[in-house]
This record gives sequence, structure tokens and C-alpha cells, in this order.
Amino acid sequence: MIKKSRQVRDYKLLDKTLPTLRYVNPEEVFIHLQNNRCKTYDIFVKEGDHVLLGEVIGMRHGGFFEQPVHATVSGTVGKISKKFHRTGRKVDTVHIKNDFLDTMHESVVDRSIEEIEKLTQDEIVEIVKEKGLVGLGGSGFPTYIKLATKEKIDTVVINAVECEPYLSSDYRMILEHPGEILEGLKYIMQALNAKKGLIAIKSKKTPLYQILSQLLNTRYKDLNVEVAKLGNHYPQGWEVEVFKWALGIEIPHGQLPMKYGVIGFNVTTAYGIHSAIRHNLPVYERHFTVNGDAVKFPQNIRVRVGTSVKKLIEISDGYDTLQKEVIVVMGGPMMGTSTVSDDVIVSKTTTSVLIFKNVEYKEEPCVRCGSCVYSCPAHLEPVQIMNAVKRNDKDVMKGLEAFKCIECGLCTYVCTSKIHVTDYIRKAKRLIG
Ligand code: SF4
Ligand code: SF4
Repeated sequence: MIKKSRQVRDYKLLDKTLPTLRYVNPEEVFIHLQNNRCKTYDIFVKEGDHVLLGEVIGMRHGGFFEQPVHATVSGTVGKISKKFHRTGRKVDTVHIKNDFLDTMHESVVDRSIEEIEKLTQDEIVEIVKEKGLVGLGGSGFPTYIKLATKEKIDTVVINAVECEPYLSSDYRMILEHPGEILEGLKYIMQALNAKKGLIAIKSKKTPLYQILSQLLNTRYKDLNVEVAKLGNHYPQGWEVEVFKWALGIEIPHGQLPMKYGVIGFNVTTAYGIHSAIRHNLPVYERHFTVNGDAVKFPQNIRVRVGTSVKKLIEISDGYDTLQKEVIVVMGGPMMGTSTVSDDVIVSKTTTSVLIFKNVEYKEEPCVRCGSCVYSCPAHLEPVQIMNAVKRNDKDVMKGLEAFKCIECGLCTYVCTSKIHVTDYIRKAKRLIG
């Protein structure tokens, strides 16, 4: 049941002017051995072993790629147990008790600027693969596969739109680490021999424009990069919308942007690429938003991958109501996943946790108002797809191109009758698979 996109309402706003308040170095981490893209894995360590920060402790296996698993603290390996992933599924995790020494693995050594300047596309791809970089905005798609493209790329676009309500961890990360993001973009442009770079932000985020422009006019003036101010609406951060409004290029459904000479990376991924190339570091920490009307102290936190969300709620002064009266959403209110428990673990691709007071909405019959149709960014007819699902008419679902749905949640959000329309469209996608 999609409850989350009903929850975009008046709330105690997390003040974006607050710096990322804390760096959480937890007593223990639980590293996911599986995720939505990787069902099987090998583990290279056993209970009682001592591991170092950045050490490869396992390998996840996806359909067409492999993904190394890194220790995000130094410490002692514990048991394998099942914990919730941000997708709402329970998956295997390996426990590491932190020794708080942060002893780095020998592979984590800085690369000099001169060495970096000589790196070829293949070498950059190999580093990014070894460090397990994936789309850190939530897609989880292996970054090395995108970077290995042989298409001619003119423009690299960094997607820093962060369009879902309540989220501001990217905003704070850009303000606090603009240089690292521009370095990451520079390395991507070097790998792809791209002549131009572009950072897409929401137009209302003036401080981001100011800080990025200042650096681009001084330290990075030789880098051919612009900041594009896009709309403030949702889902402006959808990559197709970003290319359309930033570059005037419309990418048809099912086609890759690379065919059009452009490629996009999430801003957190650009930051991660900087860490991988410059410092040989895997993604061992990330910026993370804790927000919502049922948590006492909403804040942005820099957190180790593998930290328990329960711990983050605890250091945010806990729930503002009885725990049984809240819903926990991993990710944004529109596209995130409601979970039944706060026993969730922060993965590389987890951007946020939102804690809402649960409000039950009564679903009414469809009044054929058409709001879902007018709002759909993929130009679908959600109400008709919903009716086809109710009739189990797969031909109509296919004819109405339900597979083009990006699961943005808008049809549920706007529905006059409070119907969970997105759930029906998801079901249609599964049925016509
Ligand atoms: S969830 Fe899918 S069908 Fe609904 S508005 Fe978004 S893209 Fe359209
Ligand atoms: S928005 Fe809701 S009530 Fe209106 S047509 Fe769509 S499903 Fe029906």
C-alpha cells in the first residue's frame, strides 16, 4: 500500500540552512550482502576476522555484473543476519563491530594530480568498478558500465535537482563539498573525453548557484562547466526532464541518452567518483536526511554505510508520538518505500528516512476527474490502466503503455478520491512484465 505520497502536507520543516549536523561513527554496522539488483553473493571473511576500512569482504552478483562489498569501518566481523533493505525486503547483512580506529586498508592511498591526469577511460572505469560505485541517487545502476560507453559524449550532466519534498542532504552536501563534486565531474569528463559539463539544480536554490558559480569562475575556470537552473516542480529531477529542460534534448522511452551525446550522473555519484579516483576510497559514508512530522529533531547527518536507521532516529531525539502510530518511509515521500519496521540499514543508495504520523485516508470511488491523467509526467492515462488492472485486461495495459510509468507517485498524490493509483500501475507493470 502506497501511503507515503499522501503524506506531503504541512510539516515541521527541516531547516536547510542548518549544516550537516553530525557525523555518525556507529558502534556496529551491518553491510548488505544482497540488494534489489544482486540476489547472490560470496563472502570472503568469517566470524571473528579483523577487517580494515575499505577492505573487500565479499562480492555481490547481479544479472550482468559483479559488485564488491567493502567494510565501512575497521573492526571485527560478526554473524550474518537478515535486515531490512530500503526496498522493504529483508536481505543478508554481515555484522562488523567497530574498533573506532578507522584503520584504512592498504588499497586506500591517495592518487596524485599528475597520476590522475594520465588516467585513461579504461583505467578510470576499472577504479570505479573496484570501488563499487553505483547510482547513489537511488538507482543503484553500476557506474562503471555507464563510464565505459564508447558513444561520443558531448555533455556530462550532473543531476543535483533533488526534487522530492523533505529531502535536503544533496543540498547540504553541495554547499559543504562543492570542490569534490566539481573534481568528480572533471574526472567523468576526462574518462569520456567530453567537452562540456553541466550541473542541473532547482532555480530556487540560489546558494547552490552562488557557490558553484564562484568556483567555476575561479579555481575551475578552465573547466567548461555551467550551472543550469531548472524548474522547482516535481519530478524535475527525473533524468528525462533534466535533459529536456537543461539541454532541449528529448530522450524517447527505451533509448539511452548516450545515443544523443549526453550522459547523466547523480550529484552524490560525482562526489563518490572523486573519492574513488583521488583517494581510492569506496562509498563508506553518505549524506542522509532524517525528516518528517513524527521525529523530534529533523536533521541532515553524514553517516557510515551500514548504520541502523533506528540509531539515527534515536540521535534525532526519537519519535514525536507513539512508535506504533508512525510510518517509516525509506527515500522520498513520492518514490520511497514504506516499511513495517525501523530496523532498516543505510545502504549506499539510501538517501533518507522520513517518519510520519500515520493518517488513515478513506478511499472513495473514482469520480473520473482526470487529475491523474493531467499530472502524469510520462503522459499516461493512470485511471484507464487502473481499470484495466481491475479487469485483468493485459492487452489494454500494454496498449496504454503502462511500462512507461516511472513510479513517481503523482497519480496517487493528486487523486481526488484518495485512490492508491500508483499501486495499480505498478501491478500493471508486473503483470505485463
Ligand atoms: S506513477 Fe506512473 S502513472 Fe502515475 S503519474 Fe507517475 S508516471 Fe504517471
Ligand atoms: S485522479 Fe483519481 S478520481 Fe480522478 S480520474 Fe484519476 S483515479 Fe479517478
